[in-house]
Amino acid sequence: MNLLSTLYKGICKDTGDQNESAKLIVVVRMLTLTMIIYSFANSILFFLTSYVGGMIFSQVCMTIFLAIFVLSYYRRTFVSYCILNVCMLIWIVSNVHMFGWGIGVQTFLFVLVVFVFFAKYKHEAAKIIYVTALLAMRIYLYFYCQNNSPDIIVTPQLNAAFQIVNSVAIILSLSLLAYFFSTDTQALEGKLIEYNEQLKKQASIDPLTGLNNRRSTIEYLENLLKSAENQVSICLCDIDFFKHVNDTYGHDVGDIVLKKIAETFRKELPKDSFVSRWGGEEFLLIFPILNGDEAYIELESLRQKIKSITFESGNESFSVSLTFGLVEYDFHSELTVILKEADEKLYLGKESGRDRIIY
Ligand code: GH3
Ligand code: MG
Ligand code: MG
Repeated sequence: MNLLSTLYKGICKDTGDQNESAKLIVVVRMLTLTMIIYSFANSILFFLTSYVGGMIFSQVCMTIFLAIFVLSYYRRTFVSYCILNVCMLIWIVSNVHMFGWGIGVQTFLFVLVVFVFFAKYKHEAAKIIYVTALLAMRIYLYFYCQNNSPDIIVTPQLNAAFQIVNSVAIILSLSLLAYFFSTDTQALEGKLIEYNEQLKKQASIDPLTGLNNRRSTIEYLENLLKSAENQVSICLCDIDFFKHVNDTYGHDVGDIVLKKIAETFRKELPKDSFVSRWGGEEFLLIFPILNGDEAYIELESLRQKIKSITFESGNESFSVSLTFGLVEYDFHSELTVILKEADEKLYLGKESGRDRIIY
């Protein structure tokens, strides 16, 4: 297990330039390794069936692929990729010339087709030219084999063994390509989705209090009122004499008060309430299934709860109160009209002494 993980780490070693894909060199090495094992398996098959020529050919191929593998640690990634491609092309052509079409080595051309699309970002024209050349080569090899008999004719048993080895090597190569490059894309896609969601959240949340901001609240309210079947109540509230808190204890303490009040809203109000920071020290509370009377009861308990909180600053302690303007949605008014009504009630509350709910 340790040996395997060391080998894998070795294969993954990024020796390319800074602007080169770290994935590409891993796939180049993986494919080269597949070819080394493939050539080794072939040489054993030739040895067992006493095809000396085939055995020597396979061993030469194995040595060349081994050299490419070693070279991949000393060359730029793209150079290694090119060397592997050229060697594979030569290898495919010489295989087909030697053993004919029936052995199926020409199928490796498909691996090269897939590889070129993953290997480099952009350069579409070059990719299309290369793929066209691969297609031409396959057609050429087909007609060459139609008109020429192979140098080495293998027995049906050996041919069957080759079909198996080839199938394994081709499927393995294609899977390696797909696996390494698709996981990269999927991971990237996953990251983008997450990032998008984060951005969406950031755009709808007030960073100080963590409450919904004005933008997301308007969106929520428009949807809610459009399809309202239940009683909806809306309340605009504002901290009393908050300027005094800032002036006396400092802006940082003011921020602590805002956070604590937001936390109290979340804790005390019914779970389906929608709470938002409407502006500076103003909050909009929406009760999607409460009528005005029910909302009033919730707000009264909230008002008392907030008043009972003690804030500390140095040796001093203080508490704050809120004034509330509550309206019940009448199922037909425009959103702006309802908000204006809530604002007027809040103003009335301020005028008549603060720390109260006007409904
Ligand atoms: P009233 O009872 O009439 O509402 O009086 P008030 O002092 O609360 O109202 P005013 O509008 O005069 O002052 C609101 C203050 O809220 C002024 C502003 O600096 C402060 N404020 C607004 N946003 C923030 C914030 O994010 N943090 C802090 N610390 N203060 C804020
Ligand atoms: Mg205020
Ligand atoms: Mg205000």
